[in-house]
Amino acid sequence: MIRNDQSGNAEKAAHFAEQSRHFAEQSRQANAAIARVRAVHVPIDALNVRANVEQKVCTGCGTDDGNWQTWPCPTERAITEATS
Ligand SMILES: [Zn+2]
Repeated sequence: MIRNDQSGNAEKAAHFAEQSRHFAEQSRQANAAIARVRAVHVPIDALNVRANVEQKVCTGCGTDDGNWQTWPCPTERAITEATS
């Protein structure tokens, strides 16, 4: 099919506009997912009774032995590394 230049340019512009909307929506969804994960992984102060010291732990993570995960937890570190 032969098109004139204006028709081809308009088609390309429409395609790029659609791609831009798609990428913007993907970005919005990714940022919303990160925000929801971060809402679960929040630092709080806790007392380490073995060492008798206060330390920050993650509200969303535990360890295999039943203790809190110290902050920053692996999830928070992964998000920070991926977004910085
Ligand atoms: Zn966590």
